Amino acid sequence: MTTSPPPAGPPSSSPSHLPLPYEETTDPHYAQEVVRNHALQQVKEDDYLIVFTCPRCGAAQEDPLFEPGFRSLRTAGAPAAGVAAASSTNTVLPMSCRCRGDIHAGCPDGRSGCGAYWTVEMV
Ligand SMILES: [Zn+2]
Ligand SMILES: [Zn+2]
Repeated sequence: MTTSPPPAGPPSSSPSHLPLPYEETTDPHYAQEVVRNHALQQVKEDDYLIVFTCPRCGAAQEDPLFEPGFRSLRTAGAPAAGVAAASSTNTVLPMSCRCRGDIHAGCPDGRSGCGAYWTVEMV
């Protein structure tokens, strides 16, 4: 009668990484979050690393990017006051969550991530 239940709770190396079921989904907030909360590392002259946290599952990850002349990210389709849309030569960058760890149930073979995807623009 002295047995105590083992402490519940799954082991987690990344407490902020949510074990959501895999779902291919997007939301305007995803791009906004990533634009607001990413960090850029310049690896080589035109090689960058975008360091960000998945806006859906919260996993920290990085995305390599080769883009000469690249300066920053912004939200795709964001209304730019006073700027004519026709003058836009920005490159669209599709991004998606590629977290590792197999914590998202239903993730297809050969894929990683929670399924979240979004689009930003490079300026
Ligand atoms: Zn994840
Ligand atoms: Zn994710």
